[in-house]
Amino acid sequence: MKPYAAADIGTWDHTADVVIAGYGVAGAAAAVEAARAGADVLVLERAGGWGGAAALAGGFIYLGGGTALQRACGFDDSPEEMATFLMAAMGPGADAAKISAYSEGSVAHFDWLVECGVPFKPVFYGEPAWEPAGDEGLMYSGGENAHPFAELVRPAPRGHLPQMENKRTGERGGGYMLMKPLVETAERLGVKAHYGMRIEGLVTERDGTVCGVVARSYGERVTVRARRGVVLATGSFTYNEEMLAAHAPLLLDRPGSAVEEHDGLAVRLAQALGAGIAHMDACEVALHMDPQYLIRGIMVNGRGQRFINEDTYPGRIGQAALFQQANQTFLVLDEEGFEEAHRVSPAPEMLQLRPSWVCETAAELAAEMGLPPGALEATLEVYNRHAAEGRDSLLHKAARWLRPLRGPLGAVDLRGMTSGFALGGLTTGPDAEVLHVDGEPIPGLFAAGRATAGIAAWGYASGASLGDGSFFGRRAGRRAALNR
Ligand code: FAD
Repeated sequence: MKPYAAADIGTWDHTADVVIAGYGVAGAAAAVEAARAGADVLVLERAGGWGGAAALAGGFIYLGGGTALQRACGFDDSPEEMATFLMAAMGPGADAAKISAYSEGSVAHFDWLVECGVPFKPVFYGEPAWEPAGDEGLMYSGGENAHPFAELVRPAPRGHLPQMENKRTGERGGGYMLMKPLVETAERLGVKAHYGMRIEGLVTERDGTVCGVVARSYGERVTVRARRGVVLATGSFTYNEEMLAAHAPLLLDRPGSAVEEHDGLAVRLAQALGAGIAHMDACEVALHMDPQYLIRGIMVNGRGQRFINEDTYPGRIGQAALFQQANQTFLVLDEEGFEEAHRVSPAPEMLQLRPSWVCETAAELAAEMGLPPGALEATLEVYNRHAAEGRDSLLHKAARWLRPLRGPLGAVDLRGMTSGFALGGLTTGPDAEVLHVDGEPIPGLFAAGRATAGIAAWGYASGASLGDGSFFGRRAGRRAALNR
């Protein structure tokens, strides 16, 4: 991982003002802005084409503060309210400076995306779901309208989705309609890209300034000089088992919403230059169940106790399940709730899991599930008593979703049903400059996307990755282009 010395390179195979590693969302946004700032830009992409995880993604981009899309859908929002929500939901330990810049710049960032050609359909999707059923453009994507955030700050939906017909998240999702216009914009601006080229080292001048990269293309070593700066945009460390074991061990064997190219290389290369890292234990976690079911039942742990309001962002339920409940959780539902969810859910079959146990009484169900005697019965007694009164005094699920669970009960076995990606990474400044552990920028080195610790420090909201990746990617590109 040690850097190469520029003096040892000899001849350079390629030269550009700004060299960007990775052509996913952060790399594409950096490329557009670097080119607009007048730089000659070269993107090196390890895969056979642009896209990365971003092109497979559902496409949520977390934006707010009163974007044109929010207004068109009838919602008010302000940068202050957005920042208040993000500081609470992305923490503990969220980066206040980053969140403030992100919230302040969010309306303009939305306009920038539209100007680059990213389409958004001005229709709000209000159903509980991981994603909208169709090509709707706006949705709650972080639990803004549920406890505890709904009491903290006026809720506003901020999950902005590029319009994509026949989307297939994981193959070609809404994120494709983010990436395609960004790459086309970059191409129009003269950005060049080399595919099948994996960067494997940084090159530094004698004074420590980063001035290029060493890459490998079909087994051949390739040297690339960067006159003004290098931008690292190669994604997270989700597929690096050694790094997961060291920093986020609960994510081992359960990578999700990432691609195998996310091998943590950017973090290791920059660390070898003294870069700082942050929030390496934070993870996005998906729970593999449709929220239409979750919201109508109760989530219980291995002791038969509820642990979270089921109407919150399903990613918060996933995080709580994996990190606080040892990944041992069950969904308990009655027949009415199950049938209603089944009737209204547009989710794929894999998110509509069937109950593993169905019994006439809570006691029988608890026995079949192997829960401690009396625990589930006590949980249901309290939940039902409060639900009949229209309140959830324990965990504050909203009244509209409360109904006593009666009659035959079923339990869906959600033990181990989580996956996710790492959120931690390089410490960067407000202009995406990579910071040394001493707090000073490492000259010539910039980074964005999931190679960095972004706006999510521990909590998460859908859209935070495509959001901060594109937002700080732009800053990385512009700042690198203006570097002398
Ligand atoms: P990427 O977009 O993955 O780009 C990194 C690029 O770097 C890749 O093209 C990779 O091949 C390349 N690369 C890696 N190593 C090298 C190397 N050594 N040299 C050269 N190139 C290299 N996030 C959201 O915010 N909203 C969502 O709705 C959402 N849904 C998702 C659904 C799915 C199915 C998936 C897979 C992901 C989803 N995500 C979502 C996560 C999001 O896509 C990623 O976190 C985001 O794309 C990270 O941006 P990035 O630019 O850091 O990485």
